[in-house]
Amino acid sequence: MSERDPKLQTVIDMALSLLPHEMGCDNCFDYLAAYADHMTNGTTIPEHLRMVREHLARCVSCEEEPTFLLEAMKAQGEEHNNAEG
Ligand SMILES: [Zn+2]
Repeated sequence: MSERDPKLQTVIDMALSLLPHEMGCDNCFDYLAAYADHMTNGTTIPEHLRMVREHLARCVSCEEEPTFLLEAMKAQGEEHNNAEG
């Protein structure tokens, strides 16, 4: 039973979007890349991605995850600045 009904997936997605203060570690990780993307581009963090930030603030195990992303972002920014100059 590994196939997932697309309709069911839609329902799940909706349910997740309705739970602003309940995000599991798996979901958090799923959104982490998108979240990092917004951070990198400096674009506004969408509501559902704000949950990631809130989860990271509360979850010790996930809090450590984005460190490498943040480091990568910083490195990227520095690279960019060098290229500009
Ligand atoms: Zn977590």
